[in-house]
Amino acid sequence: MSKLISIIVPCYNEGASLPYFYKEVCGVFQQMETKYSLHFELLFVDDGSKDNTLSLVKSYAEKDSRVKYISFSRNFGKESAIYAGLQNSTGDYVAMMDADLQDPPQLLDEMYELIISGEYDCIGTRRTTRKGEPPIRSFFAKCFYKLINRISNADIVDGARDFRLMTRQMTDAILSISEYNRFSKGIFGWVGFKTEWLGYQNIERVAGDTKWSFWKLFLYSLNGIIEFSTAPLSIASVLGILCLFIAMIFILIIIVKTIIWGDPVAGYPSMMCVIFFLGGLQLFSIGILGQYLSKTYLETKHRPIYIIKETNYKDER
Ligand code: UDP
Ligand code: MG
Repeated sequence: MSKLISIIVPCYNEGASLPYFYKEVCGVFQQMETKYSLHFELLFVDDGSKDNTLSLVKSYAEKDSRVKYISFSRNFGKESAIYAGLQNSTGDYVAMMDADLQDPPQLLDEMYELIISGEYDCIGTRRTTRKGEPPIRSFFAKCFYKLINRISNADIVDGARDFRLMTRQMTDAILSISEYNRFSKGIFGWVGFKTEWLGYQNIERVAGDTKWSFWKLFLYSLNGIIEFSTAPLSIASVLGILCLFIAMIFILIIIVKTIIWGDPVAGYPSMMCVIFFLGGLQLFSIGILGQYLSKTYLETKHRPIYIIKETNYKDER
């Protein structure tokens, strides 16, 4: 029986890069279809694009029966798009890649070769360089990976892209995690299984602009930490104990000073410092609590992760 590979492509305003992407990916499909006995399913997830992404995808679907699409009612974010793609994919193997050709489709051949050897459950890709990226962004990215790997039990690889090829078994494992706040990089690591990493040089996007500003990335990394670690919750306790300790030393110093030199009234500036310091610590700790609480709140609402407006997927089922 020939195998089916599903390729999931989240797209948000990718009208400029989709024609290049589609052409390139079709070339790779053709090569692989003749080389191995397999066929493809190309699943575009239009994440509420405001440009011509959907009409382009529809035009591909008309000519090419391998093309499937799902279009969201609004922009739900890449994580939701990936989840929708995984949920609707039917392949024996499932891959996902960006629409901007930053994930080279030519790698699929090598990835497929590795995964059918049966030795691995997943073939992931990682950038070995961050060429073309602002240095400050690379610096913060490095810090983030160091920190999250220290405080969480999900193995998150530095430079790992979302471009990966997985077995059906691993895909189902990922789908079994149905949480609302999705941090894919963590989820892939958390489910375990054996992953082989292929490295490649960073490639700049073929057209269009990145959808990630520095601020968005910063919030995304905070989200990742909160999703995959409860360590920040203990910061409050640690700070509390530290303050208690410092306070005890101060009390001792004041008692000794009073006994030796009497009790002159002074110390207004130092008092203000202490009040501000403690107030700051308390608000900071409450803020951390609030972050976790807000995530819990969103999770308990059980809202759908995405809403489909139109698709050609269900037509055939
Ligand atoms: N994307 C998406 N929804 C969003 C933002 C991005 O589906 O809200 C898609 C986007 O179309 C692209 C992929 O996610 O295919 C990666 O986005 P981008 O290239 O902007 O990120 P970068 O490569 O710069 O990290
Ligand atoms: Mg990109």
